[in-house]
Amino acid sequence: MRLTRRTAVLGLAATALSACMPGAAPAPGATFRPAPNPAFDAWVAGFRARALARGIAPATFDAAFRGAGYLPDVVERDRNQTESTRTLEDYLAIAASDERVSKGRAALARHQATLDAVAGRYGVPAHVVTAVWGLESFYGERRGAVPVISATATLAFDARRGAFFEDQLIAALRILQNGDITPARMTGSWAGAMGHTQFIPTSYIAYAVDFDGDGRRDIWSDNPVDALASAASYLARSGWVRGQPWGIEVVLPEGFDRASAGRGNRRSVASWAALGVVPADGGALPDHGPAEILPPAGGRGPAFMIFRNFSVLLRYNNAESYAIGVGHLSDRLRGGGPLRTAFGPDARGMTLADRKRLQQQLTAKGFDAGTADGVIGAKTEAAIRAYQRSQGLPETGVPSMGLLQRLG
Ligand code: CA
Repeated sequence: MRLTRRTAVLGLAATALSACMPGAAPAPGATFRPAPNPAFDAWVAGFRARALARGIAPATFDAAFRGAGYLPDVVERDRNQTESTRTLEDYLAIAASDERVSKGRAALARHQATLDAVAGRYGVPAHVVTAVWGLESFYGERRGAVPVISATATLAFDARRGAFFEDQLIAALRILQNGDITPARMTGSWAGAMGHTQFIPTSYIAYAVDFDGDGRRDIWSDNPVDALASAASYLARSGWVRGQPWGIEVVLPEGFDRASAGRGNRRSVASWAALGVVPADGGALPDHGPAEILPPAGGRGPAFMIFRNFSVLLRYNNAESYAIGVGHLSDRLRGGGPLRTAFGPDARGMTLADRKRLQQQLTAKGFDAGTADGVIGAKTEAAIRAYQRSQGLPETGVPSMGLLQRLG
């Protein structure tokens, strides 16, 4: 989701990677149907006056709220955001999964002409725009079907982050008033992130563009042209530097002083090279101006040297994992390979390959662990529990090497 300031303001990004996990599947059971709520109706009546005072026409308001209502599932989702800290390894396994890479390469080829035109105007290369698209909505497959007026009104009414969402609701009404979209077609995520680019309404107003020239800025329709240009517009306006990569994977020298790394510790590429930092791919470090080093997360796995464009990606969604995810996916879409440095064993002593094998074995034995991607999610945990139950073992749902050995 992917809410830049979006995420920053909503407080999703810093710890809750799962909350902005790319292409998160809809929660089972959530229908997002309005439920009667007299307190909400009273709130809407009061809000109407505030909206009109902020320039929303009565006709716009009334058309927007015809059929809109309080969405209990939205509040439920807002209250139950998992604060789980997904590892960077898990995040990247999902963000640059085989499926997301292959679909992205196909999308890049299919929309090459549009993406070239977009790159010409905004300076953001085709593979970067496509990677953003891939993380935001799985290349348009997961644009979200929740009515935006109802979702933002529900969150504005629900006082937890009321002021922020009242602004989003006003922005959504402005979009309707401008005629870019009809209320029925204005859909998005449960938190009001809309269309291919998952723009919240204020981001839409600031950055969306009409690239095909039909007079409407349409980020919702099957045709992604306006959306792709809008994502590029967002990055360009956030300071994207033409011709500069986001960063590259590097290998740090033995005894590298981690205190010199991290965001905010900017040095010339020559000075990093002098300290012994080398590209993971070999050769010389490319010089795209002052750079920072992101050391391996939690002391294991790949390190990165990042340039200014990394912080531009953070403007789209303020989570380092997201920016690394977009950057790495974009490299993959351009034909690059997987990261060179393995993450190594996790806290339970299991490597990615071990976890994949565990999932495969569970599924092979009739305990469906879902896609064998090495990411232990709810489905794998349920499969482990079911297997443990079948074996008369304590039902922990926790993966382990012992379990893997037992499975064969
Ligand atoms: Ca258009």
